[in-house]
Amino acid sequence: MSALPERPDADKLFGVYIHWPFCAQKCPYCDFNSHVRFGGWDEPRFLNAYLRELDTVKARVGNQEVYSIFFGGGTPSLMQPATVAAILDHIAKLWPVQPGAEITIEANPNSVEADRFAGYRTAGVNRVSIGVQALRDDELKRLGRLHSVTEARTAIDIARRTFDRFTFDLIYARPGQTINAWRTELAEALSMGSEHLSLYQLTIEPDTPFAELHARGKLIIPDSDRALELYALTQDMTAAAGLPAYEISNHARPGQESRHNLLYWRYGAYAGIGPGAHGRLVLPDGNRIATATERNPERWAEQVETAGHGFTEETKLSPDEQADEMLLMGLRLTEGIDLDAMARRFGFAPAAAEIAHLQKMSLIEIMNAERPDPDHIRACVGPGISPAAATPYTPRQPTIRAVGQGRFVLNELVRRLSLKTEPVAVPINTTATLRT
Ligand code: SF4
Repeated sequence: MSALPERPDADKLFGVYIHWPFCAQKCPYCDFNSHVRFGGWDEPRFLNAYLRELDTVKARVGNQEVYSIFFGGGTPSLMQPATVAAILDHIAKLWPVQPGAEITIEANPNSVEADRFAGYRTAGVNRVSIGVQALRDDELKRLGRLHSVTEARTAIDIARRTFDRFTFDLIYARPGQTINAWRTELAEALSMGSEHLSLYQLTIEPDTPFAELHARGKLIIPDSDRALELYALTQDMTAAAGLPAYEISNHARPGQESRHNLLYWRYGAYAGIGPGAHGRLVLPDGNRIATATERNPERWAEQVETAGHGFTEETKLSPDEQADEMLLMGLRLTEGIDLDAMARRFGFAPAAAEIAHLQKMSLIEIMNAERPDPDHIRACVGPGISPAAATPYTPRQPTIRAVGQGRFVLNELVRRLSLKTEPVAVPINTTATLRT
């Protein structure tokens, strides 16, 4: 049983995500908001824009305690350490940062970037996430990566010496990859001493060079049966090595999970700062809003300079929309989603009959065996009972998680679970929002 960092009250979690939009080269499989500027960029200008957008978010959300900070991209290890330090100092001026808060930066393992690790550490970063992607030079070339396996190993060594914690990413289910080839490569990865690994299957994203090659039959990825075999092997090997999956693609020694990513999956709030960043903010009046910013870096900076922020979207989320998002995030986790927490927050939960149906189809699993009986749940809060008439709330909702094929059809699971919900009366002294 994985000992995840204690599940804090997600309502109180607040993280900051900083998106750095530039990369040295665009990888042919990538659909992230990343841009190449061969002439460089005006880093002081971007720094000022980050600080200004942070000010605007502070004015929106007021006082919060920062639980985690994440520099993602793009390639944030192209930032000067002084830029990272200035952003971290500014965040600490705006909000109290929890002692020991996880502060992660993504990095590519090129030697120039690895040389900056010490500077990031001095700036306050305590965790690095390295985009290794493959431990075979020919495969790195096919993925369009600029680094070699030797550089990746060197970067990992530097990370081990420099940071409290490090993790690296690999992509598998690559064209032509056999089970045996992945077994050998994953064994090598597991021997490299990381307490956390992100292992993603190669997916063909629309509007990428890989999508074009795929459409022309020039890039063939493993079929779904082979992909499932590779996935099962990945689960078995990581679990045997003491790094079981805690999310569909993420594996960690218990206690070494990414706290920032857990914040997303447990449906906490976070500021999304920078070009093309998404955020979920909880305002002082309790409303949760979705934010998105201008994707083009220079246009984003210009908008921040004139308006104080680069938002292109600020949408108030209804309780139904929030519940859907909470399900979509939480079902990814091995710890599952606590439907009691959902009921407390929204006053409703997925119908017991639908949960039982999906359980019968082996798409979800009910985890708390003491409360798995759908008939019991149904008897307590059955369909047709209004919130006012529903049984006064006592914990009785199950914790559920996606299993088997269910892990690959999360959108469909959420659609089914949110089609049929049942009211649950909440205790008088909760602050949960009742659906109207
Ligand atoms: S380095 Fe990362 S963000 Fe940049 S293009 Fe490659 S995959 Fe995308």
